Amino acid sequence: MAVDISLVGERLVELRRRIAAVGGDGVTVVAVTKGFGPEVVEAAVAVGLDDIGENYAQELLAKLAGFGEDRPRVHFIGRLQSNKIRSMAGVVDLWQSIDRASLVEPLAKVWPPAKVLVQVNVSDEPGKGGCAPGEVTALVARLREREVVVEGLMAVGRTGPPESARPGFRLLRALVDDLGLPTCSMGMTDDLEVAVEEGSTMVRVGSALFGPRPSTRARAN
Ligand SMILES: *Cc1c(COP(=O)(O)O)cnc(C)c1O
Repeated sequence: MAVDISLVGERLVELRRRIAAVGGDGVTVVAVTKGFGPEVVEAAVAVGLDDIGENYAQELLAKLAGFGEDRPRVHFIGRLQSNKIRSMAGVVDLWQSIDRASLVEPLAKVWPPAKVLVQVNVSDEPGKGGCAPGEVTALVARLREREVVVEGLMAVGRTGPPESARPGFRLLRALVDDLGLPTCSMGMTDDLEVAVEEGSTMVRVGSALFGPRPSTRARAN
């Protein structure tokens, strides 16, 4: 698939303008490339994006293993199965979707020590990933006991109009502050302004950079 790098560059300028308009200087942009091929990762790198987000183990490995040493920083942001951690450990720099205790032991086996965000379901929507807000402190403690590095928290905003995500984002930021963590990963294409207003330090953006994703294929994982 051919990628128009100058178009991605223009969209990145517009994205940075949106973030700056709500006071988000210094917010990290994770370019979400799920559903696209490696050429989209290359385009992201070419326009200066250093952080790539992927949701599926097999797709991530197929796409990013080929980049070798000078690959961008890779964020795993999808539902994580514990038996996939080992195969992705050499490629993933930040595991953003850690939401249950059964992931702690497989992560503890990763060397150098795994860096993670704990994903929180801040909207109480069934079917959304993340542990309950009340479980965060205990999960962070268990990860630390096993020397997994907890850099922050992550959440997906409530589905619906962007404004409906605000209470959940506010809650995530409060939890990040209570724990004294540096990273608050929240905000996607549709709700990033609300997320940045509520104190996001990291937005995860796909369609605003690359357009609509190719229709999702059936996946083995
Ligand atoms: C797909 C995805 C994104 C990016 O979504 P867009 O709406 O395309 O910006 C961000 N975070 C997670 C967890 C995702 O699965």
